[in-house]
Amino acid sequence: MRCRLCGKKAIYKELRFCEEHFTSYFDKKVKKVLSNPLFKDKKLLVALSGGKDSSALLFSLAKLVENEEIDFSLKKVEALYIELGISGYSESNLKASKELCNSLSINLNVVNLSDENGVSVDSVSKKSRKVCSECGVLKRYLINRFAFESGFDFVLTGHNIDDELFFAFHNLINGNLNYLARSGKITPTDNEKKLVGRVKPLYYVSEKETAIYCLINNVPFSREKCPYSKNNAQIEMKSKIPLLLDSKSKKISFLKHLNKLKKYFPLEEENSVEKCERCGFPTTTKICKFCRIIEKNK
Ligand code: SF4
Ligand code: ZN
Ligand code: ZN
Repeated sequence: MRCRLCGKKAIYKELRFCEEHFTSYFDKKVKKVLSNPLFKDKKLLVALSGGKDSSALLFSLAKLVENEEIDFSLKKVEALYIELGISGYSESNLKASKELCNSLSINLNVVNLSDENGVSVDSVSKKSRKVCSECGVLKRYLINRFAFESGFDFVLTGHNIDDELFFAFHNLINGNLNYLARSGKITPTDNEKKLVGRVKPLYYVSEKETAIYCLINNVPFSREKCPYSKNNAQIEMKSKIPLLLDSKSKKISFLKHLNKLKKYFPLEEENSVEKCERCGFPTTTKICKFCRIIEKNK
């Protein structure tokens, strides 16, 4: 099969692109989101896990800035790695994150969950049957807290279209319409609530596409699998999504239609977001989930 733009050998059959045109297709998707004037002169923090998605995002972002395709300075972009304490996994992800940031000359911040709280995901796994959901709470909290306390305007994450579809189905099935209504490509910053806005530049990019991007551009990323991933409901549900949405265009169309429906979903009253009595970060209960997990596992 030949590339539909230049006639060279196509490496991505779904869209019929050669290596070069596939790379520019991917970079354009990132550029489209980040060209939003909202980000001009803002401090951006890329949440880097060491895996393929966030690594591809940081690599593409750095290239777009260097080629002056988006108008902001790399001095205002930093990365953050959360050391979760998962033995045999965290080490290789941190190594890949360091290698990528060194090659792009981007400052890598590291927050260590157990140094600061005396708890690791390994220790949480001994008491919890829902290790992935607690791991997710710990990660999101630490990313937001670091971004807020360090004065970042937005956090960029490597969530892709497959992650978004999981999120959409999961919340629809569980009736979490409020979460769904607040999700999307860009969520705003609210300094009063200590919530830093989130941006998902890979919102319309698939998992397969980020993997191809990393491979053809030699982006360093960790291929290590988390030992707890077999308990991850997300991986299980994601494998079923293609039974319903068997092409990229159907996935995009589903998300676009769902986004149009969001305005009809009931939003909780604004005052239902309170400050945690322990840490002062937002919560809908007296003590936030992060503080409760730490307390339970100390
Ligand atoms: Fe955390 Fe589960 Fe992902 Fe492992 S698979 S990093 S425990 S969410
Ligand atoms: Zn081509
Ligand atoms: Zn708290």
